[in-house]
Amino acid sequence: RRAAFTAMRAEPPVTRDGQRITLMVNAGLRDDAAALDLTGADGIGLFRTEFQFLVSATLPQRERQQRLYRDVLEVAGDRPVVFRTVDIGGDKALPYLDHGDGYVEENPAMGWRALRLALERDGLMKAQARALLEAGAGRTLNVMFPMVSEPWEFDAAKAIFEKQRDWLVTRGRKLPIDIRYGAMLEVPALAEVLDLLLPKVDFLSIGTNDLTQFLFAADRAHPKLALRYDWLSTPILRFLRRVIEPCRDAAVPVAVCGEMGGRPLEAMALLGIGIERLSITPAAVGPVKAMIRSLDLGALREVMGPALATPPADMRAMLEEWAMASGV
Ligand code: PEP
Ligand code: MG
Repeated sequence: RRAAFTAMRAEPPVTRDGQRITLMVNAGLRDDAAALDLTGADGIGLFRTEFQFLVSATLPQRERQQRLYRDVLEVAGDRPVVFRTVDIGGDKALPYLDHGDGYVEENPAMGWRALRLALERDGLMKAQARALLEAGAGRTLNVMFPMVSEPWEFDAAKAIFEKQRDWLVTRGRKLPIDIRYGAMLEVPALAEVLDLLLPKVDFLSIGTNDLTQFLFAADRAHPKLALRYDWLSTPILRFLRRVIEPCRDAAVPVAVCGEMGGRPLEAMALLGIGIERLSITPAAVGPVKAMIRSLDLGALREVMGPALATPPADMRAMLEEWAMASGV
């Protein structure tokens, strides 16, 4: 099978009925960029910039950040890279960063993390903005903000970048040709204000890891809960569809970058409710591409609508059966 996946590397992720899916990889370290050539992916849909912070004994200075981003962009060539600004704090506390008032996070996933921390520690965010803007000089820079919970947080984060850009302009520095700003949708509240958010963003990426733990109120790392709730369940699929549809109407590209998209049956269900962009762990590209290339997407979409309107007792079993019967 591995050999078959390797052989498929140069084949495009196109469904049997001709729908081209954008298949990207998640990455976080310099060497991960090599996964682009190894898998034949369309780009890096999620570059987790906090990895550099997590593996470092001291706060990575701007020059070091910039070097990493430039190296990754160089390997990517003309394939897009979506840099997610740091998602630190919460359970990813950094020993060299003062996390404030000594409060021990009882619910780190819901704590002072990601944008919540970065907007307050804006020195951190400014340095990262400068590093990204300079690394992206002469090309399109894609920046994505994690844990956006309300539209104003997106505005505030973007404003930090724009201010750094203006500063670079006054210094006559070379800039990115275009800067595209996106938000992660991983806090359910944001889904209720998509009408306010969508006009502001250039793209959206759904982080199903955090999103599903917040939807089910179930810790994503808890061993006793890992099997209790299913990604292929009515609440999750309905919720996602409710997010995807307004994005399509507003012509805002929407991707899924959580682990859910790296599992072929789950990825199939995502395509069935309208997703056309996935960013997944590199090892999953082969199996997911094989699923895509054997899928009649039109036929799947015809069964997904009724399945979500009148859910079967076991959504996973139903989708598995459909896939088997359809030669997926
Ligand atoms: C997610 O939450 O789904 C996601 C992609 O981000 P992370 O796993 O880094 O929290
Ligand atoms: Mg997340």
